[in-house]
Amino acid sequence: MTTFAELGLSPNILKALEKTKLQQPTPIQAQAIPHIMQGRDLMGLAQTGTGKTAAFGLPLLHRILDLGHPPGPKNVRALILVPTRELATQIIDNFRQFTAGTAVKIVLVVGGASVNKQAQSLVKGADVLVATPGRLIDHIEQGNVSLEKCGYLVLDEADHMLDMGFIHSLRRIAKHIPLRRQTLMFSATMPKDITEIADTYLRDPVKVQVAPPGKPAEKVTQGVHFIPNGDKARLLEEYLKKHPGEQALVFCRTKHGADKLAKVLDQWGFKVGAIHGNRSQNQRDRILAEFKGEALDVLVATDVAARGIDIPTVRHVYNHDMPNVPENYVHRIGRTARAGAEGSSISFCAPAEMSELQAIEKLLKKALPVIGGAPWAADVVAAAPRPGQNRGQKPGNGGRQGQKLTKNPRPAAAAGAPGGKPAGKPGGARPQGQKPRPQGGAQAPRRAPRPKSGG
Ligand code: ADP
Ligand code: MG
Repeated sequence: MTTFAELGLSPNILKALEKTKLQQPTPIQAQAIPHIMQGRDLMGLAQTGTGKTAAFGLPLLHRILDLGHPPGPKNVRALILVPTRELATQIIDNFRQFTAGTAVKIVLVVGGASVNKQAQSLVKGADVLVATPGRLIDHIEQGNVSLEKCGYLVLDEADHMLDMGFIHSLRRIAKHIPLRRQTLMFSATMPKDITEIADTYLRDPVKVQVAPPGKPAEKVTQGVHFIPNGDKARLLEEYLKKHPGEQALVFCRTKHGADKLAKVLDQWGFKVGAIHGNRSQNQRDRILAEFKGEALDVLVATDVAARGIDIPTVRHVYNHDMPNVPENYVHRIGRTARAGAEGSSISFCAPAEMSELQAIEKLLKKALPVIGGAPWAADVVAAAPRPGQNRGQKPGNGGRQGQKLTKNPRPAAAAGAPGGKPAGKPGGARPQGQKPRPQGGAQAPRRAPRPKSGG
């Protein structure tokens, strides 16, 4: 087994690592670090939670320490571009640990924080600049920063960067960086666009891949529970109560839905917070810190807000709504079982979400075990409103239409799944009886053939 010392990292970094939980390189670290230290461009492909931050961070910092002089005014030595503010903060936290006791200067430039303060911290230059694209462009245009001497470019979570439409911003930023540079790109999934980005921005890259793209963390027990939208909140409550004292991350499709669900769970006595794009940066930071400090049991989030953030204590991920981009499923469940721990991930699938489920199973190249309910019949699927169609409605109502038209929705009694009536609006009076009962037995086979997609 390789050690960090054997990888040839600088003694300063090795000393800083002693005080962290990073005692031995993970596979992506062991494979990527030597190439990066040699100055090669690199494309790193590894599932979430495998330690990609240190895989690029350690060798990059090693090379910067080697230079041993502060950058000139407004100059940046290394630029790390990330899609979200949370991810940027997390990288900064990691880098500060890795460089404890050194003079390396790290600056953060993200939206939702004071432009002037950021400009101030750029005046004397930065060894490492961690930035989200939009705000960085503002600073470039205002002349607060120069990338003329930038020798390193890292694109982290590149696939997500594309999802969020940053390709145009990336092009604008890259124009300012010399072509003689080292470029590193990391991604958990490898859609076709990513190959194009790699071809455009990387020169003769080494490709390092530790697990096939789209393969979720090994130790996550996955399953799907077929349930109408209207019953999802109560089903979630049942699952949460089954694992007291274990933290859960719950994904919702919309900001509005996330807020509603968090409110309901709060009324039901859970310590819950919600993060999404409508929250100020301060609110997001505070809620995330509370969750990490285990003052909250449940964090409700949208994909954008939660992508890439590292919360090692999360044991359970619930997809209250199925992700509409299958790659996001991999990212979501990558939030649990980080760094080798065990975790579970349960997806709630309403009739209108069958096609999302099928897309996920296609990506995973396997069916998710059914742990409650049964796959929705084709007629139910066809009658269900597509996600988005039921917008202005209360989250509790989404499943009604599909439910009404259900002839034989699922062998509910046999499956021990929640009763046939929708629970009504979450937060309203809770009907007696008909309590959803999460099923164990994650390995249960499918009970009905998968109907064709209705949309
Ligand atoms: P990724 O970017 O691949 O999703 P991160 O870099 O965020 O993964 O790391 C995931 C978690 O694993 C973090 O909590 C990090 O501190 C931890 N970690 C990373 N490298 C190691 C290591 N070599 N040994 C132990 N824990 C590690
Ligand atoms: Mg990462």
